[in-house]
Amino acid sequence: MSIPIHNVDVVVVGSGLAGCAAARECQLAGLDTVVLTKLHPLRSHSGAAQGGVNAALREEDTTLHEFDTVKGSDYIGDQDAIEFMCKQAPATVRWLEKMGAVFSRTEDGEIAQRPFGGQSKPRACYAKDRTGLVCLQTIYEQAHKSGVKFLDEWYMGDILYDKDSKKAYGVVAYNIKDSKMAIFNAKVVMLGTGGYGRAFGINSNAHANTGDALSVVARKGIPLEDMEFVQFHPSGLAGSGVLISEAARGEGGQLFNSEGERFMTKYAPNKLELASRDVVSRAIEQEIREGRGVGSKKDAVHIDLTHLGEDLINERLPELRDLAITFLGQDMVKEPIMIRATGHYSMGGIPANIRTQVRANESELVEGLYASGECSCISVHGANRLGANSVLEAILFGRVSGKSIVEDIKDIELKKADVSEAQIFQAKMDKIINSNGEERVPAIRKELQDSMTLNAGVFRMENTLLVQKELLKNLEKRYENIAIDDKSKTFNIDLQEAIELGHMIDFSKFIVEGAIARRESRGAHYREDFPTRDDENFLKHTMGYLSENGEVTLKYMDVVLGKFKPEERTY
Ligand SMILES: Cc1cc2nc3c(=O)[nH]c(=O)nc-3n(C[C@H](O)[C@H](O)[C@H](O)COP(=O)(O)OP(=O)(O)OC[C@H]3O[C@@H](n4cnc5c(N)ncnc54)[C@H](O)[C@@H]3O)c2cc1C
Repeated sequence: MSIPIHNVDVVVVGSGLAGCAAARECQLAGLDTVVLTKLHPLRSHSGAAQGGVNAALREEDTTLHEFDTVKGSDYIGDQDAIEFMCKQAPATVRWLEKMGAVFSRTEDGEIAQRPFGGQSKPRACYAKDRTGLVCLQTIYEQAHKSGVKFLDEWYMGDILYDKDSKKAYGVVAYNIKDSKMAIFNAKVVMLGTGGYGRAFGINSNAHANTGDALSVVARKGIPLEDMEFVQFHPSGLAGSGVLISEAARGEGGQLFNSEGERFMTKYAPNKLELASRDVVSRAIEQEIREGRGVGSKKDAVHIDLTHLGEDLINERLPELRDLAITFLGQDMVKEPIMIRATGHYSMGGIPANIRTQVRANESELVEGLYASGECSCISVHGANRLGANSVLEAILFGRVSGKSIVEDIKDIELKKADVSEAQIFQAKMDKIINSNGEERVPAIRKELQDSMTLNAGVFRMENTLLVQKELLKNLEKRYENIAIDDKSKTFNIDLQEAIELGHMIDFSKFIVEGAIARRESRGAHYREDFPTRDDENFLKHTMGYLSENGEVTLKYMDVVLGKFKPEERTY
């Protein structure tokens, strides 16, 4: 096998906010840094972030931001990490601004901030409704300027990991353009591969959000944390799930059912539409379940923005107006538009400490492996993320990854890779290409997505989850028998989607297993058979491990508590 081995100091996988921020720090410190990304960097999902990035810019201190985040997390977020994030937020926004990000301004020239759900003050700094794109363009530009090497359209399929010494030392990847494989042998691997919302039928995520790195590390015996906590955003456009940012509610959008009732008055009498996302999503789905939905299928509710007026909508929500016209033919200036809850964000992920070092288990760390952004679980969001805390997390902890790597790398020795280590991934690719099996990727993927939405979505029960567990076993078996029609080596998207589907099945097992075991309701995880929170038994993090036989087994890890004592969460 003639597979080249490239030696670098640091290989970063992912060029969203987290990956670009980490790579820039490493390169500026003189480390030879390569970024592998299956997309062009500016097509990373970070660029789709609309509403904002949180920072307590106009408050005496950051205590209230910390409290809102801990409360939003339903008290399972780690309070040391949350405190750190909120304290660093104002400096992070200023840093972005100094690097060239142009934020929307107030009349007197200050950075403008809008209210978001679950927050006691307006904290979301924004660039119209294109915040993510503005931030990503800025950081990508600066990473480029620092000399980082970007390898666009390279797909990472495996990591090099020595189980005994718990050490990572590179990745296996192929160039999507010609399917040629290479090993990147590095002292440090940094994962910034983003979220995994595509496991759900109705979702707001980019096609690329297939959670690749989660499944890759899980197959090495590295755990995944708190995977049962998946966020459903209240406002996806009816039918497609395309996101209508929380900015729409932040600017004053009101929700109505088919009877013209502003139903949030029942579910969150104080915060109304600006209660946290899990609360609003459940309220919407409840109205639909009880027959008060709108539209021909009665499977949506209305968000009314008409009272804001055309000028304000054009100034602050131009992209959202466009999206609703394009996907629904509804102009929010003239009429209420149809929305429903959409799979949006993954609170769980690859467990990492506050320095973003990946955990090998509940007590040990992996040498040379770091993760940040949506693929990681540093547990700043716990069971439910507050809107606009995630762009913050990706940028801040991406930078932390870079800084931690710079500090640690001098004590890390390069473990030499051998060409044969690309074999597992090569064999997987060959099997798919050469298979004459009867199963097809789109059919299995659709079944996966529809059933995850139905059985492990906004509402869950033991029986629906057990049905889903069996279904996943069955899909996994059928996946062994997939074949693709495109056998070529050039931009073989069939092949890529087949590999991605394998990843989606893998991490879905963690979501379902974690949800079965968590016999309580907390944040985004709502068990109809256990509708209340149970701190006595479940104030703890789930750590899932993939066994050799494909089963997921669970252990638990302590939550880092702090100054905010768990109390009932009402809005
Ligand atoms: C529609 C939408 C709107 C949002 N709005 C907001 C908001 O207003 N405020 C907020 O705080 N949060 C928002 N979020 C969430 C937030 O944008 C994301 O959580 C965050 O940007 C993720 O950044 P990231 O760097 O972790 O990953 P991403 O930006 O998703 O980047 C992932 C990268 O990994 C690469 N990659 C993945 N797998 C592989 C592989 N196998 N091989 C090679 N490369 C790979 C991809 O190419 C990509 O470059 C929104 C999310 C969505 C979907």
